[in-house]
Amino acid sequence: MKTALVTGGGSGIGQAVAHRLGADGYHVATLDLHPSDAPFAHTADVTDRAQVDEALAAVREALGPVTVLVNAAGLDGFARFTDLTFETWQRVLDVNLNGVFHCVQAVLPDMLEAGWGRIVNISSSSAHSGQPFMTHYVAAKSAVNGLTKALALELGPRGITVNAVPPGFIDTPMLRRAEARERLGGTVEDHIGRTPVRRVGRPEDIAAACAFLVSDEAGYITGQILGVNGGRNT
Ligand code: NAD
Repeated sequence: MKTALVTGGGSGIGQAVAHRLGADGYHVATLDLHPSDAPFAHTADVTDRAQVDEALAAVREALGPVTVLVNAAGLDGFARFTDLTFETWQRVLDVNLNGVFHCVQAVLPDMLEAGWGRIVNISSSSAHSGQPFMTHYVAAKSAVNGLTKALALELGPRGITVNAVPPGFIDTPMLRRAEARERLGGTVEDHIGRTPVRRVGRPEDIAAACAFLVSDEAGYITGQILGVNGGRNT
């Protein structure tokens, strides 16, 4: 039985990925700033390498080596570029980009040892389209797509695939908070009309893509950016 670690597993997309992989028969551990209902839920900040390493050690002890990693922890933010403080810029890059660096580096020894691994990074459709007032977030998510492509080339010969899933408009607490703060340029309902498949995305839509990408049969797919966005970005 393989062991999967899902960051951001306490809410929204990460939580749905954790549930899906659990249903698919993986041992699943989550890592999140906030406690969650998952059986192996670890409270840690992905920007703090010591906390990540500590959580990883506990996961290995309980569930064995981790050969599947889904990086879903994320932090959005909205500010006019001229008002953006460097501290806010840095925090958003820290969570969305450096968090991926820490978690991948912490998990990689298990995958290299196994000669098999699957990494999926949840980026964002905003990296495709750009998004006003989200320069920090879009920069970080674009960098995650770039990291994904470069790392896939490096790890392909070692049996490890690395892919990114950029979601677009998925109904999670993050999206609803942005809606409540009037940051979406309309309501979620309004956006449904602008979405070719005419519905808001569900966390399970992202979980389904992740479940495929981490499977054995997806072994010839690496370095790819698989948009799951109802056709909003093609
Ligand atoms: P969410 O806010 O519901 O969940 C994000 C989770 O990440 C939370 O549980 C939060 O506690 C955790 N987290 C935040 N900072 C952390 C840190 N430093 N260390 C550990 N955990 C941390 O959001 P979501 O919509 O489920 O987002 C999941 C991922 O999908 C994020 O990377 C987000 O940027 C991305 N995304 C979401 C959408 C969308 O429409 N919902 C669109 C594009 C991208």
